[in-house]
Amino acid sequence: MCIFCKVVNNEIPHHKFYEDDKVIAFLDIKPVNPGHSLVIPKKHYASIEEISEEDLAAMVLAAKKVGRLLKERLGAEAYNIVLNNGVAAGQVVMHLHFHVIPRHTGDGHVFWPHSDYAPGEADEVFNKLISPLN
Ligand code: AMP
Ligand code: ZN
Repeated sequence: MCIFCKVVNNEIPHHKFYEDDKVIAFLDIKPVNPGHSLVIPKKHYASIEEISEEDLAAMVLAAKKVGRLLKERLGAEAYNIVLNNGVAAGQVVMHLHFHVIPRHTGDGHVFWPHSDYAPGEADEVFNKLISPLN
């Protein structure tokens, strides 16, 4: 059984602070900032492609509630909601989860560097995105 399914089933210690019929939220054990939380569906889905619309909606609504708690209870100025979808995107635990990461001005976390398109590259990408699916 996956590590987050064990959290859902209360088989390993964790700090759960939100629960409804579809999702739970608990503290990440290795926080980017204190209060870094994970929102997970109770059912095991590996990716956003697999999750039902109902469970995904519950995840988004719970992430919003968690963000509010981070601001109101922990004094966060802002927060990032992050979903690493797939190994190449940094997903390590293959049970879908949102990270909700409290942020403060000057906390020094830079999530990713930006780059520039080569000449014509943005048009190429755009044309692929708008071409009809087979
Ligand atoms: P990701 O790289 O998006 O798959 O993130 C997985 C996250 O799960 C990491 O931030 C880990 O610190 C966190 N994590 C792994 N095991 C546990 C656990 N038992 N309890 C809480 N957080 C965990
Ligand atoms: Zn799982």
